Amino acid sequence: MSPFSSLTFGQRLLELPPVFYRHIQSQPLSEPYLVAGNARLCETLGVTSSELSQPAGLALLSGNQFVPGVPALAALYAGHQFGVYVPQLGDGRALSLGDTVDTAGRRWEWQLKGAGLTPFSRMGDGRAVLRSTIREYLCSEAMHGLGIPTTRALAMTGSPDPVYRERPETAAVLTRLAESFIRFGSFEVFYHRGQHDEIRLLADFVIRHHFPHCADEEQPYAALFADIVARTAQLIAHWQAVGFCHGVMNTDNMSILGLTLDYGPFGFMDGFNAAHVCNHSDHAGRYAYNQQPQVGLWNLHCLASAFLPLVDEDTLLALLSGYREQYHQHWLSLMRAKLGLAESTDDDEALIEALLLAMHAHHTDYTLFFRRLADFEIAADNHALRDLFVDRSLFDEWAARYAARLQLEARSVAERKLAMLAVNPKFILRNYLAEQAIQAAQQGDFALIASLHDCLSHPFDEQPQYQAFAGEPPAWAQEISVSCSS
Ligand code: AMP
Ligand code: MG
Repeated sequence: MSPFSSLTFGQRLLELPPVFYRHIQSQPLSEPYLVAGNARLCETLGVTSSELSQPAGLALLSGNQFVPGVPALAALYAGHQFGVYVPQLGDGRALSLGDTVDTAGRRWEWQLKGAGLTPFSRMGDGRAVLRSTIREYLCSEAMHGLGIPTTRALAMTGSPDPVYRERPETAAVLTRLAESFIRFGSFEVFYHRGQHDEIRLLADFVIRHHFPHCADEEQPYAALFADIVARTAQLIAHWQAVGFCHGVMNTDNMSILGLTLDYGPFGFMDGFNAAHVCNHSDHAGRYAYNQQPQVGLWNLHCLASAFLPLVDEDTLLALLSGYREQYHQHWLSLMRAKLGLAESTDDDEALIEALLLAMHAHHTDYTLFFRRLADFEIAADNHALRDLFVDRSLFDEWAARYAARLQLEARSVAERKLAMLAVNPKFILRNYLAEQAIQAAQQGDFALIASLHDCLSHPFDEQPQYQAFAGEPPAWAQEISVSCSS
């Protein structure tokens, strides 16, 4: 019997041979309680959200009881971590519960994160703490609201059981959903072990379920790789345009579907800093904001190696060489949209670069600036924007160029404004907001999680009731330190 009356669980990973996963037994947490449930995602799935907190739902979402007859599996993968190949990683604290079909006919894999030890846990405890689970829950739904491809969050459960990080904290389990959680590292592990048959099996599985159109191509595996390159380029262009830093772009955290995956020490930038490093453990700044596009390519090179048994090297190199231009075109079109430019001119990129340089110099709040830019007036002093710069003349200089450029636009001012408000979010998950939700939750109050989730699901809408989430961060926001410890 399924814990949710309307859902039938399957386990598609079983189509792959046992070398791809390990079976996991349930490791119950005591006194589980629901911290948050995603009513909108429930609707998509065809689940009544009240079922999440009923005993069968809660038992599943906390990992205390798996779906009868459906094996829970932890997947094997490897990956390059901070540039170094680690031969075996795998789901150390995640497991797949199985998959279900939603009301639109799409199949979702369900994972629990923090449900206990697996054979891949290495030195870890298989658990997650409430703090990091809240961050992943809120950020995945914020990204979805922004229209950026991501794994989704269905529910979060907590337990008084202690989990030790720098200090004792309490356990939590995230239920996250995606079309697939297969990573670049899922391919890499078999390449480095010389198990080329398994690479082919995995590629066939991925094509069958996620890239079926590739099967009709002359070279299906090359077509698959081309699609992964394209999706990665698009994803990272989205991150850059919205000011998001992932924090740990190791190849084991890179989704072959181009989803934002494995939220750890991520961060949306407050003041713009091109070299921003959100992960305090990343001392060399390998995954700094301005490195992300390049790291995407580096990671694709790792994946390309794993594709060598399937696709000839020249083809792979040619596909990799297209990444930069694809990334650049996506980025440019996203940035043009942010500036409200419907036409294209050769000088647009220089105009965007000049703006980013000025914002970098002044640590101008990235989200506030672009939101306010919708109100830019050609023959005015635009003080709401101007005030975001310490040196007002730098803004004035740029504003004069921007005003001249806007004269070339055919759209009406009202149309431009509407278009800009639809792409420049009013709300992002600022670190300090997540921190406030965490502190309240640690005292047993989950109301802020629910409000933030609701607000961030519609980040482009005015939502005056959430005005308090839209301002500049308080001074203490700069002191927040986020690292891999979660
Ligand atoms: P990450 O970079 O945080 O996505 O994780 C890298 C690897 O460490 C993955 O194999 C994770 O499953 C594993 N890992 C992270 N935290 C834990 C933990 N608390 N217990 C077991 N494995 C973990
Ligand atoms: Mg990971």
